[in-house]
Amino acid sequence: RMGNRLQHKRLFSACFLFTFLAARSSFEATMSDRKRRAASSSSGKRPKLPSAPDREEGKEPAGWLLRAVQQQREDAKDQSFNRKRLRFISETEKVTQGSEGILYWMLRDQRVQDNWALIHAQQLAAQENLPLHVCFCLVVPKSPLSTLRHYSFLLKGLEEVAKECKQLNIQFHLLHGAAGDLLPAFVSDRDFGAVVTDFSPLREHLQLLKDVQKKLKKDVPLMQVDAHNVVPCWEASPKLEYAARTIRGKITSRLPEFLTDFPAVEKHPHTAVRTAKPVDWDEALASLDVDRSVEEPQWAKPGTAAGMAMLESFIDVRLKLFNTHRNDPNAAALSQLSPWIRFGLSDRYEDVSLRSLSLVSSSPSYPSHLVKWTQALACVLSTMLLCLQLARSDRRHNALAHAQLSRQVLVMKDGYRNESVLWNSVDGKMHGFMRMYWAKKILEWTSSPEEALSIALYLNDRYELDGQDPNGFVGCMWSICGIHDQGWSERPVFGKIRYMNYKGCLRKFDVAQFERKFCPKNSLKNTSRKNSKI
Ligand SMILES: Cc1cc2nc3c(=O)[nH]c(=O)nc-3n(C[C@H](O)[C@H](O)[C@H](O)COP(=O)(O)OP(=O)(O)OC[C@H]3O[C@@H](n4cnc5c(N)ncnc54)[C@H](O)[C@@H]3O)c2cc1C
Repeated sequence: RMGNRLQHKRLFSACFLFTFLAARSSFEATMSDRKRRAASSSSGKRPKLPSAPDREEGKEPAGWLLRAVQQQREDAKDQSFNRKRLRFISETEKVTQGSEGILYWMLRDQRVQDNWALIHAQQLAAQENLPLHVCFCLVVPKSPLSTLRHYSFLLKGLEEVAKECKQLNIQFHLLHGAAGDLLPAFVSDRDFGAVVTDFSPLREHLQLLKDVQKKLKKDVPLMQVDAHNVVPCWEASPKLEYAARTIRGKITSRLPEFLTDFPAVEKHPHTAVRTAKPVDWDEALASLDVDRSVEEPQWAKPGTAAGMAMLESFIDVRLKLFNTHRNDPNAAALSQLSPWIRFGLSDRYEDVSLRSLSLVSSSPSYPSHLVKWTQALACVLSTMLLCLQLARSDRRHNALAHAQLSRQVLVMKDGYRNESVLWNSVDGKMHGFMRMYWAKKILEWTSSPEEALSIALYLNDRYELDGQDPNGFVGCMWSICGIHDQGWSERPVFGKIRYMNYKGCLRKFDVAQFERKFCPKNSLKNTSRKNSKI
């Protein structure tokens, strides 16, 4: 009976269940004095971040975080690059002699500072007395997922990168086309002696890497640096992880080694003879062949500086609510950082939240929440993407098949179309709790889990500013296929997949308030309530 009661309580207590049940203990593990000491001793002296001044939501950021971070970079001048962050993709490892520069092919991590891939490229170039170049290959696939929302955020972020590169005597090249088609010839034409790139577990990115590797001159080394995860993916775990809890310990035990300060990317001492073609950013944005009906959100300013300001406002204003209100979609309690993390515009979030212990102490779940998720997902995704097969073969989730057979209620089959309007109206980012509920509704409304997954991914990746990211794939698969979740009591339609319903939402937060905000014409009395009874 105790077990049943616990399960019952769990059902209604939190929807990122396994994250948060484990978060506190994981936090304790992460933040025990022993580990704190270990983390700080690994990188020598570390300046304390100033305590955050209280600020009201909506006010301009004071900039204290940026100043503290800049100071931290200064103090970390001598921080060495841990070579475990790097792996060679090519057979050769030696920089080609007599070359004209080192190239950083920017893929996922679209920022200058706090980027281990660029830090390593600069150190390599300095060692070889060579100029430093950065390139980004811009491709717009013909797809409904190619929207103004995503591409304007991307391009405006890159514009900031290009400006910063210019100040630092680094050449920035915007290449139009797929890396596999352009990059090998670009490297040969420019006579680059080595190519450094960052790491992404996404299938498309892995394919790009393979394409480049195949065509790149054999005497040019191609190396990859994991610049996205605190603990490099290949160091955290060499295998497919079954659940977040199985990888958490592996990550936290490596933090003392990898949670080090970033040295600044500095003004490069060697100037390129052949410079990059200047980019007309307005023209580049205007000429993009994207769906402009999915517009840029008002609240999210692209670029690393804006990401830093968002982090500062989180620490100042919302962090104190995170622990208690993170599952309330009406409360401003979340960090709102996912778009900047998705575009690799900053890596400071994990870093700052893990280090500035005085700031996070009011919200113990946050650091482990963030590190575990971002890390764990990168680790599991490379082999798992869209792998429904995996969900099926798993003993506890084989009820997916059952769910398909026993599916009886297929009301509101076109409900997701209405939802797409709702998603668009949430201005580019739906609250995490609502995403879970929403995706599970799609499972109810469609005729198979495959169909549900493909619709959920389509809408998520088209409308969410942070979409087309490993977190999104796992989020949809968690909701619909039970990936990384435990099995639950079997029920029609859902099988053993965790169930969420409208009543649960009513118990958790003020649904009427939420509906008034996002769907005023449709609020409580009308369709939403009817739909929810499905
Ligand atoms: C159906 C569904 C779809 C999702 N799609 C996406 C997506 O496209 N892109 C995306 O980044 N996240 C996605 N998530 C995960 C999660 O909802 C978002 O990361 C979170 O809502 C982002 O808001 P935040 O940055 O304010 O979150 P916070 O709670 O402040 O978390 C900070 C960061 O931690 C990480 N994080 C937190 N919760 C999760 C989680 N459950 N899974 C993975 N990472 C997490 C993210 O990097 C996030 O930015 C999805 C979840 C579900 C259930």
